[in-house]
Amino acid sequence: MNRNPTAFLKEEYETLVQNKLDWKMRPLGGPSAPHCKIEGREMIMLCSNNYLNLSNHPKIIQGAIDAAKKYGAGSGSVRAIAGTMDIHMDVEKKLAKFKGTEAALVYQTGFAVNAGLIPQLVGEGPDGKRDIIISDELNHGSIIDGVRLAKCDRGVYKHNDMGELEKVLKEANPKYRRILIITDGVFSMDGDIAPLDQIYKLAQEYGAMTYVDDAHGEGVMGPDGRGISAHFNLHGKIDVEMGTFSKAYGVVGGLVAGSRDLINFSYNKSRTWLLSGSHPPAVAGAQLAAIDVLDTEPQHVKKLWENTKYFKQQLKSIGFNTGNSVTPITPIMCGESAKAKALSDAIIKDGIFALPIIFPMVAKDKARIRTMMNAGLSREDLDKALAVLEKNGKALGII
Ligand SMILES: *Cc1c(COP(=O)(O)O)cnc(C)c1O
Repeated sequence: MNRNPTAFLKEEYETLVQNKLDWKMRPLGGPSAPHCKIEGREMIMLCSNNYLNLSNHPKIIQGAIDAAKKYGAGSGSVRAIAGTMDIHMDVEKKLAKFKGTEAALVYQTGFAVNAGLIPQLVGEGPDGKRDIIISDELNHGSIIDGVRLAKCDRGVYKHNDMGELEKVLKEANPKYRRILIITDGVFSMDGDIAPLDQIYKLAQEYGAMTYVDDAHGEGVMGPDGRGISAHFNLHGKIDVEMGTFSKAYGVVGGLVAGSRDLINFSYNKSRTWLLSGSHPPAVAGAQLAAIDVLDTEPQHVKKLWENTKYFKQQLKSIGFNTGNSVTPITPIMCGESAKAKALSDAIIKDGIFALPIIFPMVAKDKARIRTMMNAGLSREDLDKALAVLEKNGKALGII
């Protein structure tokens, strides 16, 4: 058969464009800061994950520079062979102390943690007795991919529905060898949180492991941003706490915090850790400084929450529906996709940068603009953003 083996590339891309489901890149002409330059225009940034504005913190930038000068630009290898430097170990030691766990481990990204570790925690026993993962229906895509790579059975429970989780656990308990419950700590589309205290209790009762993805909770939730486990007073009790340096920490990198046994197991078993080059020294230097800043400068987390409270309250009093959010992720519900897109286009014209989240990322009638608060925004910035949202929300009939 004569065929064009790559014709699908153009066809599938064009289908995305026709359905307006393609991503357009919008390059920043400078740092990711509360006031940033996008495609040449000054904007107030309302959709970065840089919650605490640490990506611009002088001590963290200096940490990167100093480490690059001392250790060079690249690490030369994967961690397991010749790519572990003192500075990589220093980050893990400091992180474990900060998180209140026995040990910690850094991966290249948070995605690499979920894709590399989840499939190792479960599988099948030598006697053929199987394992099961029980997952919240709204868990992040990287968890979904990790679960897909796992050779085990799967159960899904309705979002945050503890009754349903218990039902699945009750059935699973006698049947399976290992049971692994996985949940996001903070859910990234709605900004609500998992009832980790109840999940922990159920896991104790039914002999299940607990795994929480705290990507949006690291640096945000709990005292000094120690994360969702600290928020629920469960330091060191959740079996696997994973998170990322790419959001509130303002750098990049995945992290796991837990027992020494967990860490020894994880780095020996995760293929994403074993087979991928380690972080450049500058990344490790910035991570080290970021943990130090969280530990010694509580003002950033405090300001983030002050801004969050004010912004949420004002959005509600203007008449917007902000869903179930209790975190700095605040959705502005718009209904149909077209409305969310129109609102986003309009506010971007007026200098406020926030993008629509539409089907298939969320249900068809739950399209929204997702805003993310930042500790570096002033009251004046927030008032400007609110005025722009109010004006355009009214013009479009959303409020
Ligand atoms: C962002 C995110 C990740 C991925 O983290 P990276 O370090 O950026 O790869 C994983 N899980 C959740 C819930 C996230 O929001």
